[in-house]
Amino acid sequence: MSARLQRTIAEIRDSIAGVRSRGLSIGLVPTMGALHDGHGALMRRAREENRYVVATIFVNPTQFNRADDFEKYPRDLETDLAFCDGLGVDAVFAPDAAEMYPGTPLTSVEVADISSRLEGEFRPGHFRGVATVVAKLFHIIPADRAYFGEKDAQQLAIIQKMVADLNFPLTIVPVATVREPDGLAMSSRNQRLTREQRAIAPVLYRALTEVAETVRAGCVDAALATAAGGKILSGAPEIRVEYLEIVNPVTFQPVTVIHEPARVVAAVWLGDVRLIDNVRVPR
Ligand code: AMP
Repeated sequence: MSARLQRTIAEIRDSIAGVRSRGLSIGLVPTMGALHDGHGALMRRAREENRYVVATIFVNPTQFNRADDFEKYPRDLETDLAFCDGLGVDAVFAPDAAEMYPGTPLTSVEVADISSRLEGEFRPGHFRGVATVVAKLFHIIPADRAYFGEKDAQQLAIIQKMVADLNFPLTIVPVATVREPDGLAMSSRNQRLTREQRAIAPVLYRALTEVAETVRAGCVDAALATAAGGKILSGAPEIRVEYLEIVNPVTFQPVTVIHEPARVVAAVWLGDVRLIDNVRVPR
C-alpha cells in the first residue's frame, strides 16, 4: 500500500485518531524533504519499532534565518513520496506554510542555553523556529516515538531537553549519521555543491575524525585537539570555517579538558553552501 499524502491538519488528525483507536504504536519522522538515505535510516528504524509510521515534509520558513537559503532549499514532493513508499511509510503529512501558520503566531518555544551557541549563534532564531515547529508537530501527531538524526546533534539535544522540560509523552530516538562512501554526511544541501566542491566536501569529516583520533591517542587538551582538525580544514581550497569546537554532548557548552565523552562539532562554508557535521569524541 502506498503512503497516504495528507495536506491538512484535520486530515492527519483524523487518520491518527483511527490508528490510535486501534491501539497501534506510532513513529514520527519529521523532515524538510529532499529525502536521502539519512532520512531513510530514520524511516527504517521507525518502521522496525512501530506499527504505523508518519513522515512529515515541511520546509519550515521560521527556522531559516536567510531568505536565499529558504528559497534555494531543494523541494521535490513527488520523488519524496515515492521514497517514503519504498520504505513502507504509512502516511506523509506535507502541509503548506498557511496550514501550519494561519495567523501571526505569538507563542514560541525557546530552549535556553543550548540554543544560544554554535548553530544558534550563527543562525539567529533558527532553534526557536525548530523547537516551535517540532512542538506543533508533536501536538498534531501524537506519536509514541519520534526519530531524529545525530547529524544535527545540537538540534537533537534541544529536542530532547524540550521533551523532558515540557513533559511531551513520547520517546526521542537518536539515529546515527549516514555518510557517503567518502565520509561526507548526507544532506539535502549537498545537491547544491558543484562537482569541484563535492570533491572538497569530505575534508570536513576528515578534520572531525582527526580531532577524535587526536583525543583517542591521548590528547585531553581540547584546544590542541581541535587545532589538529583546523589545520586540515585550512589546507582545503574554498573552505571557510564558522566554528570547530569540542562540546559537552548534552549542554553543548565548550569543553576545555576532555575527561568524559564529548562531541566535536563544526560548520563550514563551501562556496555558498553551508555544511555541518559532528563526531563523537572518546574519553
Ligand atoms: P532535515 O530534512 O534536514 O530537516 O532532516 C530531517 C531529519 O533527518 C533530522 O532529524 C536530521 O538530523 C536527519 N538527518 C539528516 N541527514 C541525516 C544523515 N545524513 N544521517 C542521519 N540523519 C540525518
